[in-house]
Order: sequence, then structure tokens, then C-alpha cells
Amino acid sequence: MDFVVIGAGVNGLAAAERLLQQGASVTVLEQGQVGRESSWAGGGILSPLCPWDYPDEVTRLANRGMALFGDYAAALYVATGIDPEYQRSGMLVLPPVEAESARSWCTARGMALQTVLAADTLPGVSGDALLLPEVAQARNPRLMQALKKQVELLGGRIVEHCAVQGIEASDDRVTALATAAGSFSAERYIVTTGAWSRQVLGKYALHLDIKPVRGQMLLFKFDAPPLPHIVLQDGLYLIPRRDGHLLVGSTLEDVGFDKSTTASARDELLRRALALLPALREMPIVQHWAGLRPASPHNLPTICRHPALENLYLNSGHFRYGVTMSPASTEILLNELNGTPQPFDVTPYRVGWNGLSLNAARAEPA
Ligand SMILES: Cc1cc2nc3c(=O)[nH]c(=O)nc-3n(C[C@H](O)[C@H](O)[C@H](O)COP(=O)(O)OP(=O)(O)OC[C@H]3O[C@@H](n4cnc5c(N)ncnc54)[C@H](O)[C@@H]3O)c2cc1C
Repeated sequence: MDFVVIGAGVNGLAAAERLLQQGASVTVLEQGQVGRESSWAGGGILSPLCPWDYPDEVTRLANRGMALFGDYAAALYVATGIDPEYQRSGMLVLPPVEAESARSWCTARGMALQTVLAADTLPGVSGDALLLPEVAQARNPRLMQALKKQVELLGGRIVEHCAVQGIEASDDRVTALATAAGSFSAERYIVTTGAWSRQVLGKYALHLDIKPVRGQMLLFKFDAPPLPHIVLQDGLYLIPRRDGHLLVGSTLEDVGFDKSTTASARDELLRRALALLPALREMPIVQHWAGLRPASPHNLPTICRHPALENLYLNSGHFRYGVTMSPASTEILLNELNGTPQPFDVTPYRVGWNGLSLNAARAEPA
């Protein structure tokens, strides 16, 4: 079986990698460079920020991704020699937080949660905080490099600077993809173009509701990690990497496909981060960037075959948690392609084509 995967972010490369592992022939078309969009820009926290704030349909997928990620990252490291720097650094959640509902949510789902003194991690910050010790992280640029190398080692063909401009279909099948570099055909096509999914699908997007939401990040460099855990406070997070790099993020901005950075976002992120970690005052900003999240209602991705085109599949709309969800989301896509059983009810990830609400999805037969 041969495939064309459109879009080389974490979800496109993960699909290509799994398909190659099962003996398929795979071509990946990427409009820019591999893994340089949302999947590069993100923080690599392998968890929803406050999981108790999300519907079960989101956390079920995220939890499955979290459970698969350690082995997935280790296998990539062994195969490619590139370390995605998976580590269980834990995440410290500072007030304001609904501590009681967070506790009961975690207890009901078997997720570890400890109440600790914030000052143990952040001298100068008083009061209690919640520690989620099992939350892990990966380092996005390294993860993307490892995935790219693995796809190449397995014999996948990656074509960069090759934007898909149109989908040609006859009856109920896609017959070819039009690009500036000519036409590409395969037996099956997979769309993993994140925030650009509606544009790529054109009239075949139906009622899909995926749009870009910009997030800006700041990067600092210490000699050693200045924090033992990821720290989260009311949407602001600080992510310490092993080598002393520290990421501060992020904004949520509805500005279309504009990826520019702004002085106001930089100042606001810096002001809030300084209040938690005064040592940042001495540190220059090493880098400031923005990425476009593939936003979807309720943070619910669409992972399934197109309702009208039998050889076209979508895995997109992961919004804030596409890296976390990627191993699970790809597993669901592959099960759909292979006709093998799913790990849980995947109906909620099928309804995006129809623009259905989550409540309507819950009422759909499995
Ligand atoms: C600031 C920020 C922080 C984040 N933090 C986290 C986090 O901590 N944890 C987490 O799990 N997630 C996080 N995310 C979200 C996560 O990064 C995304 O959900 C995920 O990367 C989406 O992956 P993707 O492969 O679907 O999309 P992308 O990585 O955007 O890949 C889509 C690819 O498709 C290509 N493409 C588009 N159109 C075409 C075309 N016409 N032809 C060919 N190729 C095309 C694009 O160039 C791109 O490379 C964050 C995102 C941002 C921006």
C-alpha cells in the first residue's frame, strides 16, 4: 500500500513512521521545512495544563499519549541517536486553582497529585501548590529531528518546499494532489496540516472547524536548570530543560496566520515570569518566537476517514496538546486505516467533519 502524507509536523511524521514500520511506501509533502511549525514552536509539556479543566474526550486521548510517550521517545533515541529529551520533570501548579476539584479529578483517574509548599520550588512565593509528579516533557526540536531521521532511515521520502495546492477527486476517491512540483498520487492520502487543514482540504473541509491560534514563547539560558519542575500559574508556564534552557510561554491570540512576535507579549510574559523567578532579571532573552496552534472546539482533534472520499484521512486539530496526543492520535489513525480495534470509543474524534458539538458527539452511536 502506498501513501502520501501532507504536512510534516509531529502528526504527519508520526503517521509516516508507523506506516513505514508496517511495510508501506510513504511520501511526505511539506510546504516549508520539516517540523518547523507548531510542532517546533511548542513547549513539549506532555499533559494538558490543568487536566481537570477539560472534557474526558480530551484527557483520555492525552493520557493515552502520555502513557505511550516514554517508550516512543526511547525507541526513537535508540533508532536515530537523537535524544528527544523525554523526562518526568513533574508540573507544579500554583494558585489560582480549584484545589479540591483537582484532587478529586486526579483521585478518580489514578493520577498522582501532591500538595506542597510553593516556596520549596520558588523561594519568595508563599502558600500551597499542587505537584503533578508524573507529568513529563520532551524537547520539540529534538523530537522533530529524531522523527525526521527515523522516517528517512525507514525509507520514507520527504519532499520539502512542496505545498499541496489542490485535491483532485473523481467519484468518491482522491486521484491526485496538485503541487508546484507536479502531481502526486497514491492509494491513500493523509492530511496532517495542523492549522492549515481547512486551506489544504478546500471544499472537502466540509464543516471542519480548525483555525490558527498564535502562541508566543521566550527562551532563556542558565548554566544549570533553575527549576526542578515545570511551573504553571494561570496560563503562564516555565519549562526547564536539562541543559539550563528555560522556556516561558505562552499567549493565546486569534490573529489568523500571522506568526510575528510582539513587544507587548514579550513584556507581559517577562513581567509574569519575573514575579515567580526573579533570577530571570539577569538573563537576556535568547530567542522569542511564535507558532500557530491548530485550534478546534473543545480542543478535540478530528482523526478519521473523510465522510465522502474513501481514501482520504485526517489527523488534525489537536490545538494545545498535539505533541502530548501524537502517539495516541497516530495509533487511532492507524487502527482506522488497518480496520483494527480502537483502545477506546473514538466517536468524538469523528464528528469534526460535520461541525457537531461535543454534546452531539456524545449522543452519536459508537
Ligand atoms: C507556543 C505553543 C506552545 C505549545 N505547547 C505545547 C505543549 O506544551 N504540549 C503539547 O502537547 N502541545 C503544545 N502545543 C501544541 C502543539 O505544538 C500542536 O498541537 C502540534 O504541534 C500540532 O502538530 P501538527 O503536526 O498537527 O501541526 P504542525 O506542527 O503545524 O504541522 C503541520 C505541517 O503542515 C504543513 N503544511 C501546511 N499546509 C501545507 C500544504 N498546503 N502542503 C504541505 N504542507 C503543508 C506545515 O508547514 C506544517 O509543517 C503548543 C503550540 C504552540 C504554538
